[in-house]
Amino acid sequence: PKIIIAVDGYSSCGKSTTAKGVAAYLGYAYIDTGAMYRAVTLYFMTQHVSLTNPKEVAKALENIKIDFRRNPETGRNETYLNGLNVEDEIRKLYIANWVSEVSAVSEVRRAMVAQQQRMGKARGVVMDGRDIGTVVFPDAELKVFMTAEPEIRAERRQIELLAKGEMLDLDDILQNIKKRDHIDTTRSDSPLRQASDAVSVDTSFMTLDEQIDLVTQLADE
Ligand code: C5P
Repeated sequence: PKIIIAVDGYSSCGKSTTAKGVAAYLGYAYIDTGAMYRAVTLYFMTQHVSLTNPKEVAKALENIKIDFRRNPETGRNETYLNGLNVEDEIRKLYIANWVSEVSAVSEVRRAMVAQQQRMGKARGVVMDGRDIGTVVFPDAELKVFMTAEPEIRAERRQIELLAKGEMLDLDDILQNIKKRDHIDTTRSDSPLRQASDAVSVDTSFMTLDEQIDLVTQLADE
């Protein structure tokens, strides 16, 4: 029977690459919930939606349609916002700098969680994020919580950004990671909590293949 695999944890721990690899191996769908919050952030920034105006937020959320589709050009599943491919745009640093604020808005979370629950209803999904094992699918059959040292995550993010042509100072990236960790872990309704039944995986000294193998093995058990 198909299961739900929840992959939660800090940013740049290898969550998405691991989740993607496990989904490919099992023939499951992969859902990147961070991409959904990033797409909302992009929309809010370009439409100048005020986070403190509930009416504006509600209206914006009604007008946002996010989905994941195969891009024929890359052969990969990518993020679409109202029919437009936003995969590259949402990975940029200006989005990363605001996404935690936007995803802290309770109306935003409510809308995204509801959509994520619809997307995973049929099971057979690997979903990565912050609150998948605790809020979105507390009944997920397998929950993985990934961590890694901030310095190692900053190095990984720098390499990722460099591959996209964004050259950034390691220290700026480290500050961004620490800022997001702080926001993600200190607010009262923090999304980032380890579920009591999650398996915790420190990826600081693991290769991506090792991470994928480990989670696949856990899924087989
Ligand atoms: O995973 P990624 O780094 O792309 O997520 C971007 C941001 O979106 C996180 O830093 C967090 O603030 C937010 N997020 C969230 N809940 C999720 C996934 C992401 O609040 N399930």
